[in-house]
Amino acid sequence: ALSIGIVGLPNVGKSTLFTALTKKGGLAANYPFATIDPNVGIVDVPDDRLGKLAEIAHPGRIVPATVEFVDIAGLVKGANEGEGLGNQFLANIRETDAICEVVRYFKDPNVMREVGRVGAFVDPAADADTIMTELILADIQTLDKQLPKLEKDAKRDKELAPKLEVAKRLAAWLNEGNRAATLDMTPEERAAAKGLFLLTMKPMLYVANVDEDMLGEELEPIDGVTPIPICAKIEAELSELDAEEAAEYLESLGLERPGLDVLAQAAYKLLGLQSFFTAGEMEVKAWTVRQGATAPQAAGVIHSDFERGFIKAEVISYDDYVELGGEQGAKAAGKLRMEGKDYVMADGDVVHFRFNV
Ligand code: GDP
Repeated sequence: ALSIGIVGLPNVGKSTLFTALTKKGGLAANYPFATIDPNVGIVDVPDDRLGKLAEIAHPGRIVPATVEFVDIAGLVKGANEGEGLGNQFLANIRETDAICEVVRYFKDPNVMREVGRVGAFVDPAADADTIMTELILADIQTLDKQLPKLEKDAKRDKELAPKLEVAKRLAAWLNEGNRAATLDMTPEERAAAKGLFLLTMKPMLYVANVDEDMLGEELEPIDGVTPIPICAKIEAELSELDAEEAAEYLESLGLERPGLDVLAQAAYKLLGLQSFFTAGEMEVKAWTVRQGATAPQAAGVIHSDFERGFIKAEVISYDDYVELGGEQGAKAAGKLRMEGKDYVMADGDVVHFRFNV
């Protein structure tokens, strides 16, 4: 499964956020027998469409998609120099598919911004910059290690020329203080760059851990992206409540939904994931595929036999399914399509697969 790593400076609220995520997540419910790394949180991705489908299909249960968060504690200034456990943290980030950086916006003077630091408690831009610098420095080192061998190998193997070329361009780009992902690359170069295992190639989102009274505020973009405002303290409280109490608390705060829901949805999207649905009496379920997945690949998510023996997919678009009151209605209106092995799944497709066993 694809995962998103939570990073940030010390004392920004990462653990608070991660604990809230795991408490809330479908972990215990959906994976009763799995041994799961304590640093990994499997979190439900809320999707309003599931409820709409359930109103029509009346299933025994509803199963949402999930997304995996990894708690990567302790990225500090100097991590790239192997200071403390810095290198281990960078190695942990390397194994994730995207990065979620928590940035401190809450002002609480009782919580130090960083051990040994004096001065302002809040400076989001500077903090984000500190982390980005560490990631860029780590990438420069990664490239420095690979370049001599790559140059040698490229002399013998002409096919390595594009990879060497892009590695050199990336080294120069990073040395100017840029992150790898923003270099102008052709799709081929981008594919070659993937094989260089750079941290700053990973998709990234920012969580602004704000004070309660800042929740409605418009925030300045960081690195061109608007951060997702969340109050980790409130999320931690919400995760302790049952559904009814949580709804009341949210209402009293004037919030439509928990920040964690917004975060889980953003992470899912950032990872390039989308859902298709199966809807029956037993369950309404969201299944996860990469954007661009074909029908047989989607079938394979349910069962590998479904992919191997794939014949066709009976597909109803989500909107048609809901507007026409379900499968029968959609069928009667000619909105149930037979799709073959080249069909690219659309987000929200409601599907039955036909297959040989
Ligand atoms: P980490 O080092 O990034 O994992 O940060 P922690 O989650 O351990 O939080 C550090 C301190 O900040 C703890 O004392 C938290 O209770 C506090 N904290 C975390 N989030 C918030 C918040 O949203 N508001 C306030 N006022 N304090 C917070």
